[in-house]
Formats: sequence, C-alpha cells, structure tokens
Amino acid sequence: MAKDERMEKVVNLLERRGFIFASGQIYGSLAGFFDYGNYGTLLKRKIEQNWWNFFVGKRNDVAGIDGAIVSSQAIWNASGHLAEFSDPLIECKKCHTRFRADSLIEDELKISLEGASLDNINKLILENKLICQNCKGVLEIAKPFNLMFKTYVGASEDESATAYLRPETAQMIFTNFKQVQMSSRKKLPFGIAQIGKAFRNEISPRNFVFRCREFSQMEMEFFMHPEKLDDCQINEDELGLEINVLTAKMQENKEKESKTTFAILLNGKSIGTKWHAYWIIKAYEWFLGLGIRKENLRLRQHVKTELSHYSFETWDLEYNYPWGWKELSGIANRGDYDLKAHMISSKKDLTYFDDETKIKVLPMVIEPSFGLERAFLTVIIDAFEEKMEGDEKKTILHLNPNTAPNECAVFPLMKKDGMAQKAIEIFEMLRKNTACEYDEAGSIGKRYARQDEIGTPYCLTIDYDTLKDETITIRDRDSTKQKRIKIGDCQSTLTALLNGAEF
Ligand code: ATP
Repeated sequence: MAKDERMEKVVNLLERRGFIFASGQIYGSLAGFFDYGNYGTLLKRKIEQNWWNFFVGKRNDVAGIDGAIVSSQAIWNASGHLAEFSDPLIECKKCHTRFRADSLIEDELKISLEGASLDNINKLILENKLICQNCKGVLEIAKPFNLMFKTYVGASEDESATAYLRPETAQMIFTNFKQVQMSSRKKLPFGIAQIGKAFRNEISPRNFVFRCREFSQMEMEFFMHPEKLDDCQINEDELGLEINVLTAKMQENKEKESKTTFAILLNGKSIGTKWHAYWIIKAYEWFLGLGIRKENLRLRQHVKTELSHYSFETWDLEYNYPWGWKELSGIANRGDYDLKAHMISSKKDLTYFDDETKIKVLPMVIEPSFGLERAFLTVIIDAFEEKMEGDEKKTILHLNPNTAPNECAVFPLMKKDGMAQKAIEIFEMLRKNTACEYDEAGSIGKRYARQDEIGTPYCLTIDYDTLKDETITIRDRDSTKQKRIKIGDCQSTLTALLNGAEF
C-alpha cells in the first residue's frame, strides 16, 4: 500500500469509527483542533495511564504535579519562549497566504530541513525560485513567527494583563521546583512529572493529530546534582538493547541511520551523560511496551543549529511515518538553563541544599517529553492492517492490551432462546475488571469485523452449547483462532491472555 494511501485509510478509520473528529464540525472546524469520540477517548486515557504508571506510579524518585494552563508573561519572558519560540513564516506578496517556510521548502524540494537556519531557508527559497503554493506569487523574506497563544486575564486588555496559554508543560515544573521538592521531600536525583494540555499556534497544522494547535504533553523534568550526571545504574539488558541511530556526526557526514546498542553509544560518548542515556532507554522501552515496532523507530540526535534555545543536547525518538521520519518524542538535556533563568528573573532562590556536602547547588535537568496525540496516532499507524478476505476488504488494528479501547467484546450468537440474557450476565461479570463491550447487532462475522477494526484483542461468543455445557467460544483477533473455555475460567483466561499468555 502506498504510504499516502495508508494515512488516508487510517484517518478514514479514525473518523468513521468515531475515534477523533475535527473540533466543532457543525460550524466548520478550526484547523489544528480535534475532539475525541468514545474509542479515541478510551485509547487516549490508556496511553496516559500507562505513561503515568511507567514514569511516575511505579517509581519512588518521581513526584507528580498538575499545573495551570494560563500563565503570566513573566514566566515566558524568563524561559526565553517570548523571544525564541518561533517557526519561520513566509508570506506571499500577492495573495498574502502565509506558510511555514521550512515545510514549504520540504514539500517543494523533497529534502529534510532539520536544523536549517533562517538565513539558509531564505537562501534556498531564492536559489530555487520557490513561489506561493496558492497563487504562484512571489514570496516575501521568511521571518520568525512566535507560536504562543496570547490572552488577557481579567477585565483589562492592557500589557499588564497579558498572559499566555502554555506552549509546553515544563515551565510549571520549573517554577514549582522548590515547593514540590520540599513538600515531597525528594532528594536529588529526582523527577517531577506532569500530563496536561499545551498550545502552539502552529503555522501549518498537518498530518491529522501529528501537528495540532491544542495537544497534551506528558513530560518529566529529572533533576540531578551537577557533579553526578553519570551517577546512574543501567542494567546490562538495557545497555544491550538494539536501536536504529543517527548521530549528529552521521548527519554531518550524510550517512544513514544504523543499528547499534546503548552500551556502544555510551562508551563512544555519543550520548553525553549516563542519566541522559537512561531516560532515552526508558522512553524507547515505553514505546515498545505500547506495541510500536522496533524497526519503525530510530533515535536521532539534534544537530547544533537545530537545538532549542534551552537545550545542551537533544535526542529525538523518531517514527517512520507515511510522510517520513519525524519526531515522536524528544529527550533533551536542558542543563540548568531554566532554573537559572527563573532564579535570575524572579529573584527567588531555586537552589537545592545538598545534605552531604552542605553546599547549595543548582540542579541540572534531563527532560523526556512526549506528545499524547503523537503517541496515539503512531500506535494506530503502526497497528493498522488492511487485507483481503475473499472479496472483502478487512481492516484490523493490531493494538496490544496496553492501548486497545476494548480488551474484549461479548456477543450472543442470536438474541433468542436466552442467549442474549446469558451473554449480558457474562459481560456484566467481565466488565468489572476488563474493558469490555457488549454487541448483539448483526451477523457474528460483522461483529468480529467491527471489533477487529477498533483493535479488540478477544471476542467471546455465547451460543446454544453455552446453555447446555457452560462453555463459550473465545476468538483471538490476530490469528482468528477460536477455542472453547468454561464460563467459570473466563476471567482468569482473559487476564492471562491480556498479560501476554499464548492463545
Ligand atoms: P516538532 O519539531 O515536531 O515541531 P518540537 O521539537 O517542537 O516538535 P517539543 O517542543 O520537543 O516538540 O515537544 C515535545 C513533544 O510534544 C514532541 O515530541 C511531540 O510529541 C509533542 N508536540 C510538539 N508539538 C506538537 C504539536 N503541534 N502537535 C502535537 N504534538 C506536538
């Protein structure tokens, strides 16, 4: 299947089965805003829950927060976002359509522009005589366009009332660093994590929910003693994990990515510190746990010109999307940039008192940052399969139980002769512990197909034999194999299967 065609089919499925809709469609939607329907909400919540368990719930060294979305101008001034958080904007002199300049070049010249400076962008536009994609008019010079949404707090609209919707959740962690550290009594090294909305006025939102204007981030700032950046245990299995890698050096030499291990990356000093490697590994493991296939992931280091204003070193986990390799998640070394900036600007002490040395230090930070919508879309793209069964096209989402909106579905073969009643009984029993759906409409084949499309791993059917011998049929989505099990074993069998047992 052609890559564009695959994306079209994925979007079609997500809209048709009510996972995601363009927001407020009945009035004509605003680009870059989406509403989630039933299955989309279930899947999104699963990813969020899974992230929280993995990065916060199961650890002793991470505290959680839930910060405000609207925040004062002072925060974004100090963090550098007011001055620096921009993308290159280019406008047509004739029709005044505005484009993201690097995307326009990438579209027209079919090259990747990661890390290109504004000067380079303008040079490429001039040299290649690029014109307006809308009216073929001449283009202005590209300029930086700040991506933050501005608003006013209270009844006045003057400068002092100016506030911003946060473009990243991270700043609420930095500004609360001291309170959270003291109230949670965490000692370095420790993390503060948060899941919440972020807003960016993207010049050209595109590729469905890959680039939206309102999205959710799942972020952690991991604070470390500045002299203990390598004071970190990584087990042998994790060091030996294989991953496709593209370092900054390989990009300079125009090489392609190649498979390596984290041990090699660390020994060769490709990754600057051990804690940075640790969080890259954790991010990679988390995506693998969502069921995303290894071969579709790669780790790419930012080249110097591409680094965000706060970053000392960044590695992106990229996915091979239908439109090419793009960032799925970023793991940045923010150093002491943010705490220092807020300390200078607020004149508040944000240092940490080290009990051992009795010296105040300004912690250094590694930030694993994830976009919930990107994780969502990536899980779906990776799980999507369309195949012919006889004359019929079948769509299957091979979601694993960590992401599937329904873990099982329960059907009566027919509504009559007490089968529906029995099926509802079993459904009510299972739904206490398992994400479950009851369906009695249409042929069994249609009902299987409906569940395959939304990624339900197992379907249970109640038939005439059930009424005689208390057994039901369980069907495995991926192999379509079926077997009979006792109603009494139903929950334990299902739990074992959802935890990885062989069918
Ligand atoms: P990109 O280069 O794609 O614009 P970024 O480098 O600006 O992304 P970060 O600032 O590192 O992204 O944000 C962290 C994560 O937030 C990203 O890895 C991505 O998953 C998510 N994210 C960022 N911008 C968007 C967006 N406009 N829509 C959806 N998710 C986003």
